[in-house]
Amino acid sequence: MSDILYLGKAKSVHSTDELDELRLVYLDQATALNGKKKDEILGKGQLNNEISSKVFHYLTTQGIKNHWIKQLSDTEQLVKAVTIIPLEVVVRNISAGSFAKRFGIKEGLDLPKPILEFYYKEDALDDPFMNEDHIDYLKLASKEDVSFIKEQALKINNVLIDLFSSIGLTLVDFKLEFGRDSNGQIILADEVTPDTCRLWDKETLASLDKDVYRKDTGDLVSVYKEVAKRLNERKGE
Ligand code: UDP
Repeated sequence: MSDILYLGKAKSVHSTDELDELRLVYLDQATALNGKKKDEILGKGQLNNEISSKVFHYLTTQGIKNHWIKQLSDTEQLVKAVTIIPLEVVVRNISAGSFAKRFGIKEGLDLPKPILEFYYKEDALDDPFMNEDHIDYLKLASKEDVSFIKEQALKINNVLIDLFSSIGLTLVDFKLEFGRDSNGQIILADEVTPDTCRLWDKETLASLDKDVYRKDTGDLVSVYKEVAKRLNERKGE
């Protein structure tokens, strides 16, 4: 077994024999409220590994540069080593969550164009909302890098809207993280799963994502299983 480099809330990161490759292990752990609510949920790691692997494979086929190399086992995947840029990039298509709360608007409103937000990825500060001047001041990324990240995030949004739409789901909002690879290129990293996306069934409007855990409204494993099943049964896959 290789050395653990980092233990996150839903994954651990391990070194491999290759300097520029890492092994991610998806854990049976769910957290909400920045870690204040925390539970072991058997089967979650396997489902998120499967879902994220499918989504990243699809993003690769659509020309989106990303860290994913291959799925190694039920709960593990091999990825390119990157230095994560400490930004959480949120894209919203429909009002929900902290956006609805912060601006005092109803949930479920179609946004006329996608809204992009940045948060500073810093648990000790509860990931505060930030703007481009803050990113510049804290030297997290150059202006050119920020423009590139915004452009990529909007492209990824279009690709993911289509992917989820093809399995009967509306992509309400989601969070991305980017990293720099050994050539200094910025590529998509982290995961795309129901932990990091809001996905609403097109017909019933039911949440098939972590909101069932955040709000205690359903069984996380059964809704994640449904997302995985729909991705697996997708035509052409
Ligand atoms: N999100 C995430 N990690 C975070 C915060 C948000 O993956 O630390 C995702 C979340 O699942 C949702 C989107 O980003 O799909 C927007 O989340 P929001 O700002 O509404 O915050 P929340 O309501 O989740 O606190």
